[in-house]
Formats: sequence, C-alpha cells, structure tokens
Amino acid sequence: MLARLVLRGAGCFAPPRRRYHRRMALQLFGIPVSRGMAIGRAVILASARLDVAHYFVDPGTEEAEIERLRAARRAVRAELDTLKADLPADAPAEMAAFIDVHKMLLDDRQMALDTITWIRQRRYNAEWALTAQLDVISRNFEEMDDTYLRERIADVEQVVERVLRALRGSAGLARSASGNGDLVLIAHDIAPADMLQFKTGVFRGFVTDVGGKTSHTAIVARSLDIPAVVGARSAGSLIRQDDLVIIDGDSGLLIVDPSPVILEDYRLRQQESQLARERLKRLKFTPARTLNAEPVELLANIEQPEDCAPALEAGAMGVGLFRTEFLFMNRGDHLPGEDEQYAAYSRVMQAMQGKPVTIRTIDIGSDKPLDAEDYRDGEFTHLNPALGLRAIRYSLSDPAMFRMQLRALLRAAVLGPLKVLIPMVAHASEIRQTLAELNKARAELDAKGVSYGPVELGAMIEVPGAALALPLFLRHFDFLSVGTNDLVQYTLAIDRADESVSNLYDPLHPAVLNLLAQIITQTRAAAAWKGRPVEVSVCGEMAGDPSMTRLLLGMGLRSFSMHPSQILAVKQEVLRADPDKLTPLVQTVLSSFEPEELQAALAALG
Ligand code: PEP
Ligand code: MG
Repeated sequence: MLARLVLRGAGCFAPPRRRYHRRMALQLFGIPVSRGMAIGRAVILASARLDVAHYFVDPGTEEAEIERLRAARRAVRAELDTLKADLPADAPAEMAAFIDVHKMLLDDRQMALDTITWIRQRRYNAEWALTAQLDVISRNFEEMDDTYLRERIADVEQVVERVLRALRGSAGLARSASGNGDLVLIAHDIAPADMLQFKTGVFRGFVTDVGGKTSHTAIVARSLDIPAVVGARSAGSLIRQDDLVIIDGDSGLLIVDPSPVILEDYRLRQQESQLARERLKRLKFTPARTLNAEPVELLANIEQPEDCAPALEAGAMGVGLFRTEFLFMNRGDHLPGEDEQYAAYSRVMQAMQGKPVTIRTIDIGSDKPLDAEDYRDGEFTHLNPALGLRAIRYSLSDPAMFRMQLRALLRAAVLGPLKVLIPMVAHASEIRQTLAELNKARAELDAKGVSYGPVELGAMIEVPGAALALPLFLRHFDFLSVGTNDLVQYTLAIDRADESVSNLYDPLHPAVLNLLAQIITQTRAAAAWKGRPVEVSVCGEMAGDPSMTRLLLGMGLRSFSMHPSQILAVKQEVLRADPDKLTPLVQTVLSSFEPEELQAALAALG
C-alpha cells in the first residue's frame, strides 16, 4: 500500500517524546539582531506554513481541541468520498487510486496519534500540531534514498492542506498566554508581515537561516524584544523539531543540545540580563537630558497601533515612525480603506495622548511585499527590488491609493499633533507630485464636508542622492528624518537583507558617518535662512543602538526614534553624555578614514 509505504518508509514520527540518540552539542553562528538569551525547545517552521495560526490552547481544553481536529478529519474524509463518487466514468483509473491514497494517509493511525501528542503534551492548537508533525515527516522523507518515495511527501502535504482548510471553518478554542515549556522558532526565512503575528508572544526567541541585521524581518523581531539571530544559514536544516536550543542574541551563537554545565551558565546569564533590564526601568520618569542639560527627544518606532502601550511604558515622548505598510500586508484584495486606516491612525493618536506622532506613508516593496505569499514564493526578488518600485515611488504609481491614505491621515490630524513622513523621496518631481496629491486630498475632503487637521510634512533622508541635495528637501519639507538603515544600504551598495554581504553592511563606514553628520549640520543651519528651525531625527536602527548614542549626540543630533525596548538603554547613555566634549571628538572621527585611525577616534568617544 502506497500510504503505508510512504509513512512507514518515513520511519516513526518524532512528536514531543524524544526519540533521538544523544548528539554532541552543536554550535552554529548567525547575525545577532535582538539582545538577550533564550533557551527553549525548537519549533521548526517552513515559511510556507507560517500563516497558520500558532497558539496554545487553554489547559484542560486539550481534548476539545483534539475533537476539533477529528471533526476536520471527518469533514475531509467526506470531501474525498464525494470527490471519488463524482469522478466521471471516463476519468483515468489513477485518479481514484490517488484519492484512495489520500484517504489512507488521512486515516493513518500513527500520524494521527503523533499529531494528537503535540496537542496533549504541548497544548499546541490543532493547526500548529498538524504542521509540526508534517515537518517531522518531511525531514524523514528528505533523508530517503528512493526518489519516488521522497517525492511522495507532496501527497502528505496535500492531505494536511485539506485538513488545515477544514479547520479554518471551525472556531478555535480559548487561547492561553503560555504553553508547557519555552519554545524558540527556527525557520529558513520569515516575511516581515508573518513575523508580526508572533507579537502575541508564543516564542521566546527566533532564528532564521537568511536575513541581514537591518532586514525588515530583523527589525520586527527586534520590536518583539526577544532574542533573535538571523543569517544562521543552515540552522533550519541542522536543528530538529523539539531540540533544546540556546539562542545568544548578543553574540549570534546558537547551541543545540547543550551540556548541563553550559545550560546552567546560560540560565545565569539570562537572569543577569533580566536584572539589568529591571534596573533600567528606574529611568522611566527621568527627563532625557545630557550632562550640560540639553533636552534630547526619545521617540518610538511602531508597526501597529498596539505598540503604543509598550512605547508609553518605556517612557517614549511620542511616535517618531509608524511604519503603516504593516496595516496593508497580507490583506489580499481587501486593502484597508479610508475609514479603516482612519480608525488605526486615530487609535495611535488617542493612545499617545497629545504627544507628537509621525506617521509614514506606506513603504511597500523591496523586502516588504504587500502579500507575504509573494515573499514566501521568493517573488519579491524582482530584478532588483531595493532599487525598484518601493515607498513613495509605489504610492505615486497609484495616486488614488496614496490620496486615500493622505485623507485618512488628514482626518486623524484633528486628534492631535500629526506629522506625515514620506519615505525614500529623492527627486524634485516626487516632492512636487506629493505636495499636489496632498492638496488634492484636502480638496476631496472639503468637497465632502469632512473636517481635517493641519499636518507637518517631512521627508525621510535615506537615499544618498537626497542627502547630497539636502537644500531641496529643506526648502519643501517641515522636518527631516534620517533612515540610516537604507542610507547605509544605498551608500555602500549592500543589500540590507542579504546575509552573504552582511559583513560589509557597516554603519560606521566613513562615507556613512560623513553623510549623516552633513545632514544633521545642514538641517540645523537651515533655521537661519528658513526663518524657523527644521527638526531632524534619526529613525533607523542606529538611533536605538546605545553604542552609537554618543557619536550621534556629538554630531548634533537631539532627536532619536527607536524600538520602545531600546529607549531606556539609550536614555542611560544620554544622561551620561556631555556634548560639549563629544563635538570635537566627533570631528576627529569624521576626518578618520583608515580603519585603525577610525577605531581609535571612536574609542575616544568613551
Ligand atoms: C530606515 O531605512 O532607516 C528606516 C527607518 O526605514 P525602514 O527600515 O522601514 O526602511
Ligand atoms: Mg527605509
């Protein structure tokens, strides 16, 4: 029987009960993107299955969840029976045989038992249990020598897909905040939009095979404030479902099956880093001022309205960057309309209680496709996505969609101080068109008698061409925000999402530092000819890196926007810094071009 052959041939499955012989501890390295230590059992997820819901069912509801799974199986069995009965008389005989194989796979006792074990022992929801088991089976298939049998995994996948579809029709049970033991997620790659679904906190850490330090997946992982390592290359294939894994988010080290001594050492480190975080919380209400009493603005970067709560909790003085593209992702044909967008922006305005809020128009494209499906299929790799139809270019290519967003933003501006930020703008023509669309959006609201508020308009300076033609942007915009993630990518011609060149992605390259210093100096000087100050902030990952705070302060920066989790660590640096002393030291940094010279100049900053 093919089904028996397929499943038995695959060897037994490996649900939570451990079946492996003991391996030596395995060490792997990747790029650290989010600090701290995580220790947990590995959950291996194929990126194609990341859109499946992952949550723990409430303790005591395991049997009901198993019944949900059984009901879905029964529905699929009925579906397959109907399919077979409806086969036309002249259908090839293989079609009926294949339906029989799928029915046998569906009824396979061992597979059913192993899937149930995930639910009973780990309290996984049914969808998660199914995909976890599918992953175990897939691994076993991959190891088969027989090509024919190896390819039969497609049949198992199709059956699982059918059961997943049937589960979609039945409401899930109550979700629990935590499961039985800590888990870490291991995946080849995760689309930024998929990453967002893990904000609910099922996993204690993340590892991906690909990605760079400022890829958007890494940025979202960092915003979850749990240890993460990207670019770990073969981690996804070397680590197995349920392996015990240590993720060292400070160094990028992964330890699989650690010895008891190593495990104990990391548990201690985990406690220490937790204590250090607790200590930082004391700074929440301390005003952010340098030693010479200059105020420094510390703002939050957010991806969704729910992020306002942690931002306020960390003492953010406002939102410096709301990446609105996340509202638009994974929505298929149902992109958010004006009212839905207005509701999301209003929630942010209300949550921030009158503090300034900067909302960026969508930055779709590059490694942030509208649909994570495209990302998973690798379809976002157009010829050169980072240089393609992205950000404001995308918005201007669909003016109706752009104006809809502008109208929603103008309406939300009634609720408090709202600034609109335009990403990746580089050309005078883009400035002209943006201003024209904004005026049209106002006129459309006027025509409908809808009220709206005043907005300041800002440009992201993240393309070197814009940095070098700054007077153009200073003339037309009310404020600037420097996107160092892209500024580094475009200045050094390094794809920020590509781990194979991540060693060359260097925010401390002299070209980047000089461009950045020039932007800050020119913007501050613009007050003289513009008749009013033009604010400049940095909202790229550099702003949230405490090791860069003194450097940026010495360049004259007084406004930083970052993940809420970084605010207190950066504040601690601000409180200890004396810009009068840092300014001349930064001049030495900026005139250092040889690596050793530059290192010494940076070290002198303290
Ligand atoms: C940046 O480029 O620095 C930035 C903040 O924008 P994003 O990371 O979303 O491209
Ligand atoms: Mg950017």
